[in-house]
Amino acid sequence: MSTQRIALVPGDGIGPEVTAQAVKACDAAARRFGLDLAWEEYELGADYWRITGQVVPKDVEQELAKADAILFGAVGDPSVPPGVLERGLVIHLRTAFDQYVNLRPVKLLPGVPTPIEGLRPEQCDLVILRENTEGAYVGAGGFIHRGGPDEIATQESVNTRKGVERLIRHGFRLATGRRKHVTLVHKANILTYAGDLWQRTFEEVAAEHPDITVDYVHVDAMCLYLVTQPERFDVVVTDNLFGDIITDLGAAVQGGLGLAASGNLNPTCSAPSMFEPVHGSAPDIAGRGWANPAGSILSAALMLEHLGHPEAARGLEDGVKAVLPRLGAMRGPEMGMSTEDFGDAVAAAISESRCR
Ligand code: NAD
Ligand code: MN
Repeated sequence: MSTQRIALVPGDGIGPEVTAQAVKACDAAARRFGLDLAWEEYELGADYWRITGQVVPKDVEQELAKADAILFGAVGDPSVPPGVLERGLVIHLRTAFDQYVNLRPVKLLPGVPTPIEGLRPEQCDLVILRENTEGAYVGAGGFIHRGGPDEIATQESVNTRKGVERLIRHGFRLATGRRKHVTLVHKANILTYAGDLWQRTFEEVAAEHPDITVDYVHVDAMCLYLVTQPERFDVVVTDNLFGDIITDLGAAVQGGLGLAASGNLNPTCSAPSMFEPVHGSAPDIAGRGWANPAGSILSAALMLEHLGHPEAARGLEDGVKAVLPRLGAMRGPEMGMSTEDFGDAVAAAISESRCR
């Protein structure tokens, strides 16, 4: 098997603490399932920016571009102006590497309390695909009439046929291997221009997939149904801003930020995809060894799947599932197990796992 090169960007705060456990889990899976993974670490983040004045220099970006995948921790530091690192690194790489799908599974895991009483794992297993390169997040213009009692501000959202269609097509591809249902989430009754483009494109792609059932849900109703009837959903496709909002709700339904995993995918593989936990650098708990590494390990599982190793990916997920019930509460000092111990236990579970 040929070597796959993974660029590791641990970043700031708890980023290095959680990615260290993800690397450990991947290495255990590599031994167990016969993969050949080579890690190259890049020290980007707050310190790098303070010392060099740059977030990600061109030559480093060119190095990253050659990797087979990127495993990312988190960036952000109280001493750095907000946005410098988040925009300059995370958002920049998503765009530079055309990672147009932001994939976030929402799944209940054993032993993790969900705020929704009585919700069972089989009732909550969906994947949200958020458009990751357009919408209100990219070079969107606006108009402002500043000052006085008649101030006005408008803000644009960019939606291209190509951008919308490629995201929707990925949703249908994914649904084919799942429960064969795709939901479009938008606010087409009010945002009539963008909504029309999304709905027409969705209907056209749906017509090519008669074996897949579809429906449409307004984003406000989605917030209701995600809590009251999550079993309605299999694959959800939506724009950048709505996706940002409903995936946080998804993380809450799942039982918290510490568990939420994500992939920034470039399905064409013209550039590497990047995998990261949904949480940030958590400066409030950094350095104490309390951070929950599950989100990072589950993101690494998405990475192994993307790299063509479904068995190893399942190994990581099963490892996390085996260890999670041993935790007490999920956050802070009550986590009941250190970050390091959690990683060791997951790696041990992977090494001892049997073929299924
Ligand atoms: P955060 O996700 O870092 O933390 C929110 C809360 O959740 C904190 O109380 C934190 O202690 C807790 N938490 C987060 N992850 C946890 C884990 N794995 N285990 C246990 N508890 C966990 O969000 P924030 O506080 O809003 O932001 C902190 C910094 O991170 C900011 O600079 C922000 O811009 C940055 N950020 C970066 C990314 C990214 O790199 N993709 C994403 C979000 C936020
Ligand atoms: Mn967000």
